[in-house]
Amino acid sequence: MRKKLVAGNWKMHGNLQENDALLSALVTGISVLGNNASYAVCVPYPYFPSVQSKLQGTNIEWGAQNVSQHEKGAFTGEVSASMLNDFNCTYAIVGHSERRMLYGESNQVVAEKYVAAQKAGLVPILCVGETLEQRDSDTTEQVIDEQLKAVLTLAGVNSLANAVIAYEPVWAIGTGKTATPQQAQDIHRFIRQGIAAQSAEIAAELTILYGGSVKANNAAELFAMPDIDGGLIGGASLVADDFIAICKAVRS
Ligand code: PEP
Repeated sequence: MRKKLVAGNWKMHGNLQENDALLSALVTGISVLGNNASYAVCVPYPYFPSVQSKLQGTNIEWGAQNVSQHEKGAFTGEVSASMLNDFNCTYAIVGHSERRMLYGESNQVVAEKYVAAQKAGLVPILCVGETLEQRDSDTTEQVIDEQLKAVLTLAGVNSLANAVIAYEPVWAIGTGKTATPQQAQDIHRFIRQGIAAQSAEIAAELTILYGGSVKANNAAELFAMPDIDGGLIGGASLVADDFIAICKAVRS
């Protein structure tokens, strides 16, 4: 059976004090949910030591929001996958639309980051998704195809056995505009069918998350769709009660 996952993306939010309160509430609220699904928070780099000490031994995993495509070297300001391993990260988000748009990450660079993460034993959460302009011009499937193709060409379809895909329509991220469950399902099915054309087994087991203004009050209907296996949660992951409610919704 496919793994269900709810992962929070804190983005550039938080401080030691706020994180401590948030994580304490999450540990209490999520510990009772058992292990039918996986739960994770992707946090800013400086907080790994405190997040690790707070979450180890709990049913909440942690990860990074980005990773360098390089193993080591003169790359000022970058963080390698093996450095993330030093803090027992499980996941690394790659290709978030904010990275693609604000930092110019191309499909090729995202694919290299995906490979670097996997090489170090991390599970990449590969974000794909279209802008509003692309949706309006009916090129959503083409855009997503190209984003996936870069990864499949570099890493091969079997690499998806150790990866998660997050479909995140750019127009729904941080905007309060959620894709309807059917809009999201249509693209999730498109992604799964595209992978199935290369490997039915890999496609059947692939966890595909939806991300884009998932909230406590819309998570259940999104997660009820047959090809949606959980969510990548931005804003709502910063509010303990909301994130816990979304985590509960993935089990039902
Ligand atoms: C995200 O940043 O990946 C995201 C989905 O953000 P939000 O939930 O705030 O739209």
